[in-house]
Amino acid sequence: MAEQKPDFSTIPSLDRLLQAPAVITLVASHGRSATVAALRAALDTARGALAAGDAIALTEDVFAQTAAARLEREAAPGLRRVFNLTGTVLHTNLGRAPLAEVAITAMAEAARGASNLEYDLETGKRGDRDVHVEELLCELTGAEAATVVNNNAGAVLLLLNALALRKEVPVSRGELVEIGGAFRIPDIMARAGAKLVEVGTTNRTHAKDFVEAIGDRTALVMKVHTSNYLVQGFTADVAEDELAAIAHARDIPFAVDLGAGALVDLERWGLPHEPTARETLGAGADIITFSGDKLLGGPQSGLIVGRADLIAKLKKNPLKRALRCDKATLAALAATLGLYRDPDRLAERLPTLRLLSRDPAEIRKLAESLTAPVQAAVGDGFTISVNDCAGQIGSGALPVESLDSVALVIRPVGSRGQGARLKRLAASLRALPVPVIGRVHDDALWLDLRCLDDVDGFRSQLEKLQMT
Ligand SMILES: *Cc1c(COP(=O)(O)O)cnc(C)c1O
Repeated sequence: MAEQKPDFSTIPSLDRLLQAPAVITLVASHGRSATVAALRAALDTARGALAAGDAIALTEDVFAQTAAARLEREAAPGLRRVFNLTGTVLHTNLGRAPLAEVAITAMAEAARGASNLEYDLETGKRGDRDVHVEELLCELTGAEAATVVNNNAGAVLLLLNALALRKEVPVSRGELVEIGGAFRIPDIMARAGAKLVEVGTTNRTHAKDFVEAIGDRTALVMKVHTSNYLVQGFTADVAEDELAAIAHARDIPFAVDLGAGALVDLERWGLPHEPTARETLGAGADIITFSGDKLLGGPQSGLIVGRADLIAKLKKNPLKRALRCDKATLAALAATLGLYRDPDRLAERLPTLRLLSRDPAEIRKLAESLTAPVQAAVGDGFTISVNDCAGQIGSGALPVESLDSVALVIRPVGSRGQGARLKRLAASLRALPVPVIGRVHDDALWLDLRCLDDVDGFRSQLEKLQMT
């Protein structure tokens, strides 16, 4: 066999393939140039196989099928839905807050065509895109004015640039935070053109430290909510109302980066307390910033509320234009904020709150109902158990508080090659049509079911699990 020369004439030509009915169908759905590229790739593979002496089928249908598989792979969107079973509800890498139905509808409606985004329907003149959310934000927080940008990092950047350019901003050393994804207060301060003045020490900062740090060049006193860590032990911190009084006695505004930014008291739903925007303004903050896609449960956005004169300065700053939100975001945000007008039904209608307040007993029932189908899918190389576990809110909200939850725990049988088998199991789950993302912990794969909403979708794809 080895000395026999491969007969390349048996391979159909590109022109002939393009006339095959199966290929004509591909051209109709994927376009001519993508189909030609896929066929060329299939032809190259076939030539390589022939040259290597492999026996391969060379019919037009086989080429059409190979090209079709490639075209489908290429056409599949890279950004896909996944099942977040990590136990972290607001998972930044998995897209943070799931949106409410009304927000999704509003977003699609705004995306579909023209809207009055910046057009005043009463006067027929140019309008301001903030109007679609400003009134609601003021109503829900008690602020005089509000504006919105792309995210909270952008909100802090804009605030500092608009109010403290080339001036000093004292911040406690205990609050010089780094949030995941390279957001660091000292860096943002420098990029905004403001000069950070570090106050106090990492664990203790006192009122007199702030008094000493304030001078002629001070533009703003700032407090940053230490959202993703906790300073414990021998600590001291200046309370918001005290800091506000110190700033106001010197005619300096007091700003707070609230981070997660709750709009309602989460204790009502049995969750730990997180300071609300209204409370923070009530304690004397003149301007505050927070994220739209953390506890608020809306689209990615950075919300800024506070004194009208300060907000007006932000709106006039060119960075506001550079960081503005698009129409779909504003539509989703307005719809999400609208839900807060009826707190009694909020947990039903806002997925973030529904997931955060889900009863562990309900999650346990769900886990028990899935034990058998998951066992059948993973096979007898693994055991399944239902275990209590500690989930997290995520996105830096309440880092030390955990959410009591329940997980399906999938553990390899026997002790040999456990790590490698777990890795393969996790990879197989990620290879499902809707990838399932769990958490490896304690030699097992944990699927925290708090965020599992589409149970039927999860269950029905289990038969496609390919254990290697
Ligand atoms: C999350 C967070 C940010 C960044 O907000 P993004 O919306 O992710 O840009 C800034 N500051 C604090 C305190 C945060 O918790």
